Amino acid sequence: MVRYMTEIYGNPSSVHAFGRMARKGVEEARESVAALIGASPGEIIFTSGGTEADNLAIKGIAESLSHKGKHIVTSKVEHHAVLHTCEYLEKKGFSVTYLPVDKYGSVSASDVEAALRDDTILVSVMMANNEVGTIQPIAEIVQVAKSRGVLVHTDAVQAVGAVRIDVEELGVDLLSLSGHKIYGPKGVGALYVRKGVKILPVAHGGGHERGKRAGTENVPGIVGLGKAAELAKEEMDSSSEKIKHLRDKLIEGILSRIEHSRLNGHPTNRLPNNVNVSIEYVEGEAMLLSLDQQGVAASSGSACTSGSLEPSHVLTAMGLSHEVAHGSLRMTLGRQNTEEDVDYVLSVLPPIVERLRNMSPLGKRG
Ligand SMILES: *Cc1c(COP(=O)(O)O)cnc(C)c1O
Repeated sequence: MVRYMTEIYGNPSSVHAFGRMARKGVEEARESVAALIGASPGEIIFTSGGTEADNLAIKGIAESLSHKGKHIVTSKVEHHAVLHTCEYLEKKGFSVTYLPVDKYGSVSASDVEAALRDDTILVSVMMANNEVGTIQPIAEIVQVAKSRGVLVHTDAVQAVGAVRIDVEELGVDLLSLSGHKIYGPKGVGALYVRKGVKILPVAHGGGHERGKRAGTENVPGIVGLGKAAELAKEEMDSSSEKIKHLRDKLIEGILSRIEHSRLNGHPTNRLPNNVNVSIEYVEGEAMLLSLDQQGVAASSGSACTSGSLEPSHVLTAMGLSHEVAHGSLRMTLGRQNTEEDVDYVLSVLPPIVERLRNMSPLGKRG
């Protein structure tokens, strides 16, 4: 990336040698991103991140197929990049079905099937949930939608780089991914659009990204995303195994050391890096502030949309009460984490919980 900020600073749309060198960097990155998900390079559109990829997928299909129908099916546990885009489209005359989930946060393919109408143009269900890690049955959902000729988008921002993804096997038509969720830079992502699927652009301007996303490319960011994709492809299997082991150790350690704690999300069908627990009779915010003082970075069930005191829409959709949702804590593990890190969290978290419970107005003492 540094070379692309200092030496190879050409505009990839320029015909001269400086421009051609930058173009080469962008196109090599496109090949790496495509290879990671089993796509061809021509099916990758670079964006400013996962949020823009979700917007482009959903608005892009809504606009291109509005003559066919104006109904979209999604779920209640999607990222706000999907939910708020759907809410925006509702104001523009589209109708949206927000599917419920079970207690693990899973969407069922038969619910998708039951929601399909003659005017349904798109199903958008995330591949893996960012809060609780639950992996959705996308291949089954695709089968159901395909049999009715409906396109499927999946927000795979959390799944890419964590689990194996092949867009041909899955059969999805559109898939969003993001750089900073796969150890790449922030402010860059991509949308996979299956060959033959037509989307209309959201941003208008030059003919960049085959006319689907106008604006001079973020060359260093794209090159960084390409490198991250290359590394993810090489290291995913071995690092996922290691991270999964640490995840299970952390989950078991918390559940066995802290009374009235429980795991949120699916017990097995979950991202290898995600730990989300509810610890009753304590505030998630208070736990995460105390953890932060001990050098542990976590997030809580109410802080995801930071500043808001509304409990997480994901946890409430799973049937958790507001109290239990407020006492939830999410920790994610990565390549650099070690057994010692997990031991450290397991040594500092129980005393934090005990102290907070002792001063808690919420009732129960630890
Ligand atoms: C992070 C995230 C996004 C947004 O991606 P950005 O690159 O931060 O815009 C969208 N969906 C999911 C599931 C995410 O985890």
